[in-house]
Amino acid sequence: MNPELKLTADECTGCGICADVCSFDAILMTDKMAFPLFIPEQCTLCLTCAEECPFEAIEIKEVSLKEKVS
Ligand code: SF4
Ligand code: SF4
Repeated sequence: MNPELKLTADECTGCGICADVCSFDAILMTDKMAFPLFIPEQCTLCLTCAEECPFEAIEIKEVSLKEKVS
């Protein structure tokens, strides 16, 4: 099981704060995107994004390898 960030889309407003505060370029967000895209390979799980998200839209979820493959 690998921990991975998950977005709660219902809570996310697309404000882009999470992408701004990530020091590891692990969140992609452009003007044309409604929601941020997480890049797990870049993420150190520092959780700054989750702490800074005003809407508590980011959570950590355990992801099994089987789930990742499917
Ligand atoms: S900071 Fe929170 S609400 Fe804003 S884009 Fe990121 S996840 Fe969505
Ligand atoms: S947990 Fe840290 S490294 Fe990962 S996306 Fe959030 S701010 Fe970036």
